[in-house]
Amino acid sequence: MDFSPGTDSPAMAEERELPAYAAELKGQNDALRTALNHSRNAFLIVEPDGRFSFANRQAEALLGYDAEELSLMSVSDTLPADDQARGLAEFRRVLAGDRLLQDWSLVRKDGARINVEIYSVLLPSGKVLGELRDVTEIRRNAAELEQYRHDLERLVEERTAELGRNRSLLQALVDHTTAVVFVKDLEGRYLSINRRYSELFHVSNEEMRGRTDLDLFPPEAAEAMRAADREVLAVGAAREYEEVVPHDDGPHTYLSLKFPLYGDHGQAYAVCGIATDITERKRLEMELEARRAEMELLGHRHVAAQTAAAIAHELNQPLVSVSAYSEAALSMLAGGTKSPEKLAHALRGAVEQAHRAGRTLHELLDFLHKGDVVSEPVDLNVVLRQALASAAGSGSGEFRQVVELAGDLPPVLANRVQVEKVLVNLLRNGVDAMVAAGSPVSVVTVQSRQVEDMAQVMVQDSGPGLDPETARRVFEPFFTTKPRGMGLGLAISRALIEAHGGRLWLDLDSGQGARFFFTLPFAS
Ligand code: ADP
Repeated sequence: MDFSPGTDSPAMAEERELPAYAAELKGQNDALRTALNHSRNAFLIVEPDGRFSFANRQAEALLGYDAEELSLMSVSDTLPADDQARGLAEFRRVLAGDRLLQDWSLVRKDGARINVEIYSVLLPSGKVLGELRDVTEIRRNAAELEQYRHDLERLVEERTAELGRNRSLLQALVDHTTAVVFVKDLEGRYLSINRRYSELFHVSNEEMRGRTDLDLFPPEAAEAMRAADREVLAVGAAREYEEVVPHDDGPHTYLSLKFPLYGDHGQAYAVCGIATDITERKRLEMELEARRAEMELLGHRHVAAQTAAAIAHELNQPLVSVSAYSEAALSMLAGGTKSPEKLAHALRGAVEQAHRAGRTLHELLDFLHKGDVVSEPVDLNVVLRQALASAAGSGSGEFRQVVELAGDLPPVLANRVQVEKVLVNLLRNGVDAMVAAGSPVSVVTVQSRQVEDMAQVMVQDSGPGLDPETARRVFEPFFTTKPRGMGLGLAISRALIEAHGGRLWLDLDSGQGARFFFTLPFAS
């Protein structure tokens, strides 16, 4: 069989020699062609030698040739070189009477490849009718779909593998953690336990499945655990519980974090627990607490001893003087003194020293007195002026005052007497330091202002300031560098300010002199 156009086929010759009586047939033939031209599919009629004898409009459009060009072509002209042999073989099958529905790749006039589904059937005339459907798009879509399906499969495979890896990572974590991990269903039956659980309670995961806490622990402990599980399920959130669990070596305390597990539809189906043994931590905490209480007691004893020492120190000197004056008076009386003046002097000395001892004792008690404290809205600037007047009039030393008070300072919530005590103490300390250092110019600067939501007071002197060691210890009770100091002023002042909700501190970068600050909260 030859595919190339060549000599006229018998059929074509027959058509050319149509007898006149066949005019009607010709009419029908034309009608058929018109019908074919209006069909949506492409049709080709092929001579037994492979040449095209008819092509409808769709076939022309599909292949890119017009009818005239096609009439000079054969099937082989539309087939790619590598498909010629198959084309010939299949064409022969159709000529032999087979009806074939096959996919072909054809070459258009412009060289483009198109995918075509061809239904080929042998006509009674011995010619072959081919109905062509362009399936380029469909096949491409199918190929894309196939690729998509393939990609999807690969993705699912990858995700499944990843899930598997995550699952085993999770399992490894759960198995190797030192925490006890368990999952119980809504009725409290165990679904799973980790390795640590198995080791501690000598029970395997399989043995534990379906059992409850009552099978393992005393009823009281088991009921407490069940109550916790129920609570977690009821609140639908994670909660921590301290659970006491009997062990081979006695009861252990566990800190158990429990939380509900939810299924795909948002229904809780289990309680998961992660429990860590905090027995040792608890023991340490208790030991620490006991130590702290011990230290506190020691501290109190220390303060008591120091206070007693301070009292003894303050009273010792006047008592020594009292006894010296009294002894002198006694010996004068025993010697029958002729000078009642001298006797009176000795007795006056004794009385004076006794009064001094009494005053010292009162001062000390005043200082230590805490009593009931009434706080009220107080104008801090007024208290500052009173304290300055009191310090200036105490006769401890002359000083110049620089007063910078905030005009619009809201009232603070404080005990007026205590705040004044603190201020007087700060001012006296400044004056003491300036007097002791023999400062040529004694200036005390007092400032009040608002800093954020607190009132802040500054007291600065022009004395020598504090060396680092002194600065470090000024707030310690009984720390003093003064020969007659008690070292309680700053300790008590700080305690008073802190009891008000404020702070008292020494500014270490004050430059010249010492600079103290304290804060107090506002009344509203
Ligand atoms: P006391 O005044 O009885 O010594 P305080 O607690 O008030 O007790 O003060 C403790 C010590 O802090 C003082 O002895 C002094 O060394 C030091 N100090 C306090 N204020 C000043 C100051 N303005 N300048 C220098 N040193 C100070």
